[in-house]
Parts: sequence; C-alpha cells; structure tokens
Amino acid sequence: MLAATSDRFPANARAALQDQGLQKALANTGPQFQARRAAAVAALPEFEALRDAGRDIKNHTLEHLDFYLEAYAAKVEASGGHVHWCNDAIEARGTILKICRAANARTVTKGKSMVTEEIGLNDYLAQNQVTPIETDLGEYIIQLRHEMPSHIIAPALHLNREDWETTFRAAHTDLDPNRTFTERRDILTEARARLRAKFLAADVGITGANFLIAETGSSVIVTNEGNGDLTQTLPRVHIVVAGIEKLVPTLEDAATMLRLLARSATGQDMSVYTTFSTGARQSADLDGPAEYHVVLLDNGRSGMIGGEFQDMLRCIRCAACINHCPIYTAIGGHAYGAVYPGPMGSVLTPMFEGLNQARDLPNASTFCGRCESVCPVKIPLPKMLRHWREREFERHLTPATARGGLALWAWLARHPSLYRLATRAAAKFLRLTAGKRGTFHKLPFASGWSNGRDFPAPEGDTFFARLAAAQRAQR
Ligand code: SF4
Repeated sequence: MLAATSDRFPANARAALQDQGLQKALANTGPQFQARRAAAVAALPEFEALRDAGRDIKNHTLEHLDFYLEAYAAKVEASGGHVHWCNDAIEARGTILKICRAANARTVTKGKSMVTEEIGLNDYLAQNQVTPIETDLGEYIIQLRHEMPSHIIAPALHLNREDWETTFRAAHTDLDPNRTFTERRDILTEARARLRAKFLAADVGITGANFLIAETGSSVIVTNEGNGDLTQTLPRVHIVVAGIEKLVPTLEDAATMLRLLARSATGQDMSVYTTFSTGARQSADLDGPAEYHVVLLDNGRSGMIGGEFQDMLRCIRCAACINHCPIYTAIGGHAYGAVYPGPMGSVLTPMFEGLNQARDLPNASTFCGRCESVCPVKIPLPKMLRHWREREFERHLTPATARGGLALWAWLARHPSLYRLATRAAAKFLRLTAGKRGTFHKLPFASGWSNGRDFPAPEGDTFFARLAAAQRAQR
C-alpha cells in the first residue's frame, strides 16, 4: 500500500515498481498519450510557433497579473457574479462551505478540478454534512475507492478494467450479478445511470477552470464527457474554483491556449466540450445557474512572482510533461504522495508542502529534458528542479552519502591533475573488471540503475586524455 505523503517517495517508488497491476495499467496507457500527442503535433506545422505564442501570453499576463485580476473581477461582478479572494486552502474551503450553506446545499456535483484536490475540498465538505459527488468518470471511480487521482487529466490511470468492475460491484450493491463489464461502454453506461439522478438533485455545482478571461469575465472548462456542463448548468449555484494564474487577457488568447491544451494533453485538436461561462443566468438565457461565484486561490502563487519559480505559473495542467517522464511512466502518480505528480508536481509540491517534506521529489528526475521539450508553454522544468536541489543542498537536506560524493567531486575538480588521474584510473578499472562482456550487471554505488539493466563499461580513454592527445598531435 502506497502512503499518500510526499516524504515517503523512495519507499513508494520501490513498492510501485513491484506492483504488477499498476505496471500493467501504466504499460497500457502511457505510450498512447505519447503517440497521440506526437501525431497531433505532426499534423500542425505551426505548433512550435503556437508554443512561443502560449509562453508569451502567459508571461505577459504574469507580468501584469494585478491589472488582469482586477479587470477580470470587475467583469465577473458586472455580469452578476461574485468573486471571492482566498489566500490559502483554509480560506478557500471556508468560502465554498459558506456558499453551500447559504444555498442549503446537501449535495454538490463536481467537475474534475485539481485545485479542489489541492485544497482538500471533498473531505472538508463531507465533514460538514455536504456530500460532494465527482462526475468525471475517472474521478467518480477513485471517489468510490477513496483514492487520490494518480494523474492530473486521467485520475484513474492506475486502474485496469477488472478494477473498475470490482469497484462497481462493491459500491453498487444492487448491481445485477450477470452484468458484464468487458467494454469501456459497459463502464460508461453504469456510471451514467448512477450519476444522472445526482446531477438533477445537486444544489450546487463546483468546477475548476482551465482559463479565466479578463476581457469578458468568463471561465472556460474543457471536458470529453460533458459532465462539466451538467455540473455548471443544472444546479442553482455554480462555484468556479481557480488559481490566480489561470488568467489570460482576451478571448483570442484563450483560443490560442485551447489549441495548445488539447493537443498536448490528449492529442485531440480540441476537447469534445469547451464551455465558456459568464456570470449568472440572465432573463433571456434558456439555462444556467441563478448564482455564479468564483473562488480565486492564491495558496503561495503570488510568492512565486518575480522569483526563480515564476515560470511554473505558466502551467496549463496539460500533463504532457507527466506523460513523457521516464520516472512517472515507471511508477505512476500515487508514489509521489502529492496532488500533482510528475515533473510539474516535483516543482510545485515543495512549494505547497515545504522542501523538508517533499525533498525527494526534485530528485525524481533523470534530467533527460523530455518534460521541457513537450511542455506547450516551454516551462524550463529541469532548471527549476535544479533550483530545488540547490536549496536542498544548502539546507543540508541532501543525504550524507550524496553530500560526501559531491564534496569529493568538488575537491577533485579543484585539483585538475588529480582529477584526470582519478578518472583515468577509474575508467581503466571499470574496463578491466567488465572483461569481454563490456557491461556491468551490478555497479557499486549505482545498484539502483544497474540492478535492472546492464551498464556499459567506458570505451577508450577519458575525454581529458583524448583532448590532451589531440592537442599534442596538433603541435
Ligand atoms: S508543466 Fe508544461 S507540460 Fe507539464 S502540465 Fe504544465 S503546461 Fe503541461
């Protein structure tokens, strides 16, 4: 059983590697995300230009965030909505509960929203006699299983088909024993049938927002199931919960970001449903909520402005970095023990939970750079992970063995002739001991790497020795 705290990452990662069900689920879904994104990108010649545009829109917004926040709030109020400014998770949860109580809400339906996971909303509402019902298919099943999402756009990615059936049979005790769940359609039919009545009965609908538009005061959500639309149009009250970094200046900017989002996330040109909501229902509207509230959450975000982590606020939660990360694709999301997994989570979690608690996460990276290369808004994720590692080292949170190794390397680097001698001797020793095979199976101090794969012995001489030989030959 994986522990849902980020300080358990090393033990969780080991357990995840041994979990055959998880490994099967990861093998089934991981490569699909990569292939679909690659196909979508290949079909759009201007995708690189679009990435630049997306980065620039977000950078511009962040540089003028106070201006756009005020402009957005004014538009929301003008269209009959209410904006609630919340510094942290406690304030946000309290505000949402207050709105629910004012609406005499007993049940609330929810669209998929990572920011409500971030503030721990479901448990809080349930403790206060308001029942939250997740309506995204993946969120619905993990709510039945009392689990956290393991992925930011595919929350039940860790499950196999048989897990769905077992969970439905345990939770829906009136289920016909002869019903079969061999196809995805069977799962959808069951979830739809159960959720229909919940949609109709809910007093409040809560969604996140993929974007907030300052020009119009609109919130935008994208889904592939249409559950978000039913969540926000059927109940009397709609609450949007969003981080302050979700702003974009104009409708046109939102359109640019949407073109990037679906391609990077699921490889679609556009998500099946893209819904813009502006204010409460007006007299001429056919549907919509009587009350429209936006809960704007800071929770440490404003502290990132102007610092070395500001670029992270460009994140549009597409999960491309997660889908392409060799660490995430080997261990899944629960091992991180945090709301946000993968490279983006390894940057964000120390920010939210503190470096002491989450110190292992910035080390959950090979620095291969794939995350940055697929990020639609060009966030330099490896650079930010390195910033965390530097802080970890400065605060003496790095394990003693790693500190010792780094100190030895630093000392050698300051003594070039000794460095050359040592690296030459080490390369020779490794070549000799590898023998004819030319590879190691168990390398001392690197068993985590070489237990599962052969490690090639160095070929030829060291770089410095070759450089010196080339220089001598030129003279
Ligand atoms: S960091 Fe980039 S790739 Fe990762 S979720 Fe955010 S926007 Fe997507």
